[in-house]
Amino acid sequence: NNEEAAAKAAAVNADSGTPTIFDKIIAKEISSTIVYEDEKVLAFRDINPQAPVHVLIIPKLRDGLTMLGKVSVYHCYFSRLKNSPIAEARHGEILSHLLYTAKIVAEKEGILDGFRVVINNGPDACQSVYHLHLHVLGGRQMKWPPG
Ligand code: C5P
Repeated sequence: NNEEAAAKAAAVNADSGTPTIFDKIIAKEISSTIVYEDEKVLAFRDINPQAPVHVLIIPKLRDGLTMLGKVSVYHCYFSRLKNSPIAEARHGEILSHLLYTAKIVAEKEGILDGFRVVINNGPDACQSVYHLHLHVLGGRQMKWPPG
């Protein structure tokens, strides 16, 4: 389907060194609705919200974090993901800060009764932007399993 095709195309174009649209958002060259910001992370509303609350949390310095984990050999063969830097032990601090920020955002948005934190990792998960990000979703009844 369209979603899968777009995800595969995004993976083929993913490049470890190339800035993504999120760098423009960080630099405020593209406007976004910021929900929370500190020296390390930026949280802003997703332009295509999948729930009443849909916030993205990203590290301001990507520092190699295009995604959490490497994709399969199959995908590496067809894409540039084989060169994509991924989470390493040195990223522990920023990874925990991103997750802690999810709680701050959920609190600010009033969705502590139920919210979801999602990382779409790689083409099979429909990752489209190769700058690691957490989705915080809430404000409606979530379903399980997710689509
Ligand atoms: O996990 P995935 O890579 O698919 O998520 C990227 C997200 O970034 C999408 O939910 C998309 O709507 C969002 N986005 C955005 N602003 C942009 C480009 C993408 O909020 N300018």
